[in-house]
Amino acid sequence: MEATNNQTVSIFPLGNPGPTEWFSGEVHVQTLVAPEQMEGLYTVGQVTFSPCGRTNWHTHPIGQVLLVTEGKGWYQERGKPAQVLTQGTTVAIPKDVEHWHGASADSNMVHIAISNITDGSSVTWMTPVTDEEYAEVNKNN
Ligand code: MN
Repeated sequence: MEATNNQTVSIFPLGNPGPTEWFSGEVHVQTLVAPEQMEGLYTVGQVTFSPCGRTNWHTHPIGQVLLVTEGKGWYQERGKPAQVLTQGTTVAIPKDVEHWHGASADSNMVHIAISNITDGSSVTWMTPVTDEEYAEVNKNN
């Protein structure tokens, strides 16, 4: 049990800093089920986003399920309004849909991510969510 940034207590360990080429801001990733435990077909992890922490834009070859366990954040598909994420939100992300997820500017956000793997990969990473794109989502927050 480790405290996250706003002093709540997570169910799972915080994990390690996420690679800076895939994330903006402070993000931690804890693998809960590794691909090799599941015949290389899927993986489960917890991602903890500090305020303003977020993924790059990306797609998933089969899709991804997010289960939000703490805080407040955003899920946005390219060209659509962002959807608010709070504790208990479930998101079923369709295959090949470009999107990002992360914390809001004023709160952390923690989610469990369940990701299928195809041809050895669960994600195709794209460009960062710019500060301008992120500010637009948070401006009416
Ligand atoms: Mn995703």
